[in-house]
Amino acid sequence: MNSFNPLENVQKILKKSCEILNLDESVYDLLKEPERTIEINIPVKMDNGKFRIFKGFRSQHCDVMGPYKGGIRFHPTVNGDEVKALSAWMSLKCSATHLPFGGGKGGIIVDVNELSDNELERLSRGYVKELYKYIGDRYDIPAPDVNTNEKIMAWMLDEYIKLTGNNTLATFTGKALGFGGSYGRKEATGVGVAVITRESLKKLGINIRESKIAIQGFGNVGSNTAKHLERMGGNIVSISEYDKEKGVYTIYNEDGFDIADLIEHFEKNNTLFDYKDVKHISIDQFYSLDVDVIIPCALENSIGEEEANKIRAKLIVEGANGPVNYYADSILKDRNIIVIPDILANSGGVIASYFEWVQNISAIDMTEDDVLNKVEYKMLFAYNEILKIQQEYDVTMRLASYIYSVLRLYKILKLRSRI
Ligand code: GLU
Repeated sequence: MNSFNPLENVQKILKKSCEILNLDESVYDLLKEPERTIEINIPVKMDNGKFRIFKGFRSQHCDVMGPYKGGIRFHPTVNGDEVKALSAWMSLKCSATHLPFGGGKGGIIVDVNELSDNELERLSRGYVKELYKYIGDRYDIPAPDVNTNEKIMAWMLDEYIKLTGNNTLATFTGKALGFGGSYGRKEATGVGVAVITRESLKKLGINIRESKIAIQGFGNVGSNTAKHLERMGGNIVSISEYDKEKGVYTIYNEDGFDIADLIEHFEKNNTLFDYKDVKHISIDQFYSLDVDVIIPCALENSIGEEEANKIRAKLIVEGANGPVNYYADSILKDRNIIVIPDILANSGGVIASYFEWVQNISAIDMTEDDVLNKVEYKMLFAYNEILKIQQEYDVTMRLASYIYSVLRLYKILKLRSRI
């Protein structure tokens, strides 16, 4: 695993985009750090009767466009700078896709595999107990992220309503259907990644029906990306995942996988390690595969300089947040490998969250088609706007996305006399 501070990563690109736009230094100074980051300590009574204290965070980056918005992740590597970076990415993502939200992000340092279901519930409720004064449907709206899901959102929202008496469903998104959740939300990030991959392949003159695709990570984003790319005719030939006992492993089948079967196997066994008729390859071989696209859908920093030098794909689409680090990005640029950045490529999740929030606050229902068509429309709109910027400034898609987002943030900051 490469180690590069994700906050430094986002700051370097922000700085470059502010310089290209010739903005006053104060704009970068304002955006380079969150408005506030709250650090909490959560006491949880474990099943053995003893207490364990877990550290958690909520970072609120910028609220000029609307309430802070962003997920909560449960992972052993969560730390203050990571949460800060992730909240900055949320501001940029919401700005790029014209959502009336600012950026937020939260996390708890925890290995969820070590907790029982009851402990996980107490931890989730504990997080809200420490933070309920700082979130709300018009203030800061959390959602799922790495290792969190609709079950955890239900516990959190229930705790929030108990503590505040404010019986609103709109304070959390990514909820279960039946408790304020929206059709399409769970699949939306993967749908969006697939749509952007299809468009980017088209632009490169590659027919998706003849494309070979490799995906890193088979969680909610990776598996739904695979499912929807397969629906569009793409051929997923390799998937890299993590198994608690086996570590990182990669499966390969040159004829492509049956994704529905793969998802069923993963849901049943929590691993793809023993999946039938596959070849196991190393992670080095994974990055050097002769494929058209690599889609990293796990954590930050999976593609550093070493990986960037190995990659033979023509296109990288960031399903995860921050998977390609700053230095790898410049190597990929020199090697003419197109990178579609996280703040555009994986924005389908927060866009669907926005429609979930709209349904909750206005007490209306949307169908799955309603939501996913709207997600696709908003993403294609952003993609085309960003392409125009890319051509105008002759920069990478990442810089173009940042320039586009920062410009929108700058305009509203000016209108509100915040800078
Ligand atoms: N965690 C997701 C992201 O990074 C979704 C956030 C949300 O729906 O608010 O975009």
